[in-house]
Amino acid sequence: MTARVGQIIRSHGRRFIVEADGQVYDCTTRGKRVDYACGDIVDILIQNQEQAVIERAHERRSLLYRQDDWKTKVIAANVTRILFVIAAVPSPSEELLGRCLIAAEAGDIEPVIVVNKCDLPETATLLGKLQLYVNLGYQLVTLSAKQDFSPLQPLLRGHTSVLVGQSGMGKSTLTNALLPAANARIGDISTALDSGRHTTTHATLYHLDADSQLIDSPGLQEFGLKHLQAADLVHYFPEMRRYIGQCRFHNCTHRVEPNCAIMNAAEIGEISAHRLSLLQRLTLELG
Ligand code: GDP
Ligand code: ZN
Repeated sequence: MTARVGQIIRSHGRRFIVEADGQVYDCTTRGKRVDYACGDIVDILIQNQEQAVIERAHERRSLLYRQDDWKTKVIAANVTRILFVIAAVPSPSEELLGRCLIAAEAGDIEPVIVVNKCDLPETATLLGKLQLYVNLGYQLVTLSAKQDFSPLQPLLRGHTSVLVGQSGMGKSTLTNALLPAANARIGDISTALDSGRHTTTHATLYHLDADSQLIDSPGLQEFGLKHLQAADLVHYFPEMRRYIGQCRFHNCTHRVEPNCAIMNAAEIGEISAHRLSLLQRLTLELG
């Protein structure tokens, strides 16, 4: 049996498709281990032309978890770019955006806010609301997936990207526009696995060009945050970092304590009330 290094380009519950030296292999894992994800770089042992066994994963640059009621699951590994797709219609959730930015900060992944459907007049109001995030230093790009998605292309170059956002914001439209018609190599082998299409871990990695990849996980609305510690949350709010260590109590939860530096900053308008309440809600959720 030959050992190779490859990358997981499709995950499907306990089954994985690994690409190694231009070949694709339908892989199982050794023992019961299944905590591999699309995007993982793995050592495989090749058994025949179509099958291999995953031995181990290499160290990950990042990990993203799927939001799940019953369990936290890994959805993608080695992502370097999160594209949060938002549009004026149907009514967008600032809460989801806030949570996505936390997942990005915690994973040390660069987020970009992609404002889609800029052909709609309602977009102006949305952009007004999103100015807060631009002021915080986040990149924002406006486009219309239906008309011209090219503003996105420089942001994808050199990255492994993932699209996330509420249903109806245009993620599938964008994905279809971005993917080259033929990603033929995974075609045949993945059809066999398609019966499990709706498993929650379903994800596919596509090569956009030689050094850009897109991990498509249909229907991905938000990432899980359950692996985070409540006490670390303030680190993931760029505007709050300067107040770390300034609260009266070192274990301040920034909710009810007197002389809380973060609540004081919110009171004088240096932190938005919306962002403070997101911090407080997440603190309760993770506490
Ligand atoms: P998803 O649920 O995020 O994958 O969203 P879809 O890609 O399915 O898009 C939802 C709806 O928005 C569809 O009816 C699309 O045709 C529409 N849509 C997508 N992009 C645009 C756009 O740039 N402008 C307009 N006006 N509609 C769009
Ligand atoms: Zn505090």
